[in-house]
Amino acid sequence: MIIVLKSNASESDAQIVRDKITEIGLEPLYLPGEEKIVIGAIGDERKLEKLELKSLSFVERVVPILKPYQLCNREFKKDNTIVKVKDVAIGGKEVIHIAGPCSVESEEQIIKTAIAVKKAGAKILRGGAFKPRTSPYAFQGLEEEGLKFLDQARKETGLPIVTEIVSEYHLDLVGKTTDMFQIGARNAQNFRLLKAVGGTKIPVLLKRGPASSLSEFLMAAEYINSEGNPNVVLCERGIKSFFTDTRNTFDLSIIPLLKKETHLPVIADPSHGTGVRDLVAPMSLAAIAAGADGVIIEVHPEPEKALSDGFQQLTPDNYAQLTGRMALVAESVQRFATNSG
Ligand code: PEP
Ligand code: MN
Repeated sequence: MIIVLKSNASESDAQIVRDKITEIGLEPLYLPGEEKIVIGAIGDERKLEKLELKSLSFVERVVPILKPYQLCNREFKKDNTIVKVKDVAIGGKEVIHIAGPCSVESEEQIIKTAIAVKKAGAKILRGGAFKPRTSPYAFQGLEEEGLKFLDQARKETGLPIVTEIVSEYHLDLVGKTTDMFQIGARNAQNFRLLKAVGGTKIPVLLKRGPASSLSEFLMAAEYINSEGNPNVVLCERGIKSFFTDTRNTFDLSIIPLLKKETHLPVIADPSHGTGVRDLVAPMSLAAIAAGADGVIIEVHPEPEKALSDGFQQLTPDNYAQLTGRMALVAESVQRFATNSG
């Protein structure tokens, strides 16, 4: 619920409203604006209605938040949220490049990739240490050793890292190394895990579930926000559909729709979105044109030897060419993006 006070309302009037909200066990959000004070109240709307805030003389209007996602709703916060991963800001004017291999496979592989993607313009290094695989017989990741190699690559290049957390039991283990958690598509509705990362202040890259509607996707973000972690970046990575000619169906249209519905940054993952190496470049360009705040791309020094997702990974050369093209599209939509040139 949003409570808008009249323009002549004072700070002490605002305090009365805040106290009433606190009395029923909810937490008020104080949002002073240029002209008017706005107070947000998140929680059971029925309890809030009983407060009859409308009857207070200094209250102009009480607006229910009709959407189930409240904290991440654009109605609730008009300005874009900027998520900082170390000193990299996602959600501002710069379109942020995140790149690296699907899986961390060796110290040499991750360091080599990190150096190459940094040179090409990447600002954050990706790499899976814990891999959620469809088959239990497939490579599951180097786990703790993989985290160590990521740390080495960060030391070598200065790039912050994003890596997947697959279980809430790994919160401390992954949390002590990573600069950003990745919640994978398969865990997009693992509510225990969402709550666990929500209890930290570490930024979260939240992938869309393969069958998540816009509302389900935003409710997953709401789980993290409502636990007290505002640092969520949404990532479109393709959904299941009847169209089986690509690995997933990359839903470009959700990017501008999300930008309208939420203040959280939105990035695109055309690697998993298409699963086809040749489609990664056109879909990356399209995602930036559609308003994405960043693009995450899988890059491997020798994709043909990769232990996972080799068929969709770019070589460092392919990637460097692509960042050059992405910079041009970014400019055409009044943004900018770093590249090697
Ligand atoms: C990944 O990023 O390597 C990954 C497994 O992604 P997703 O969860 O989108 O399938
Ligand atoms: Mn992958």
